[in-house]
Amino acid sequence: MVEDQLRARGIEDPRVLEAMARIPREEFLPERFRAESYADEPVSIGWNQTISQPYIVALMAACLELKGEETVLEVGCGSGYHAAVLGALAAQVVAVEILPELAALAQANLERTGCAANVRVVLADGSHGYEALAPYDAISVAAAAPSTPKPLLDQLKDSGRLVIPVGDMIDQDLLLLRKAGSRTHSHVVTGVRFVPLRGGHGWR
Ligand code: SAH
Repeated sequence: MVEDQLRARGIEDPRVLEAMARIPREEFLPERFRAESYADEPVSIGWNQTISQPYIVALMAACLELKGEETVLEVGCGSGYHAAVLGALAAQVVAVEILPELAALAQANLERTGCAANVRVVLADGSHGYEALAPYDAISVAAAAPSTPKPLLDQLKDSGRLVIPVGDMIDQDLLLLRKAGSRTHSHVVTGVRFVPLRGGHGWR
């Protein structure tokens, strides 16, 4: 996976490659989909949700330019896999999930794989961010939003990075936003297909 799907497509950050080589992706997938753990595509995690293709997890993580000291917010924790990768790259991760079953699953997966120490799973509507532990050095959103929720920008530190799929419920642009004082610079990283973001700033 690391050689053929990540390095071959231009993921160069050695810390991202190391984290993805080390974290056992199969442990985050339901028993019946384990054979597809390292497939080059998204995989079902139940409840109509999917774990992103490995390349997209790596690309999003690389965009955040994490060095190891950051506090990161993830919106859409799902299986907990992406949060585990972020936890390997930053000091601490707050991973928000709106579905109680998936929040519990993520917590169990993170504990079983020894990735829970610096990842806090929170059951909440992450489209509002998570004010209690803000501000964040970086924010990663794993569900498609109609537009960038304002609370996420408000909870981002100055010069912080936010990566988020924005578009309609089928196709989106993966945006990388960088906060610079009162301004935000944004660019499109690539086209993507994520499941919809629910909640107050998501799709009703
Ligand atoms: N990052 C996950 C996969 C994300 S799938 C992984 O590594 O497995 C998208 C997830 O976003 C789903 O679990 C879905 O329930 C969750 N979600 C959707 N809207 C949300 C919201 N408003 N707040 C928090 N989580 C949300």
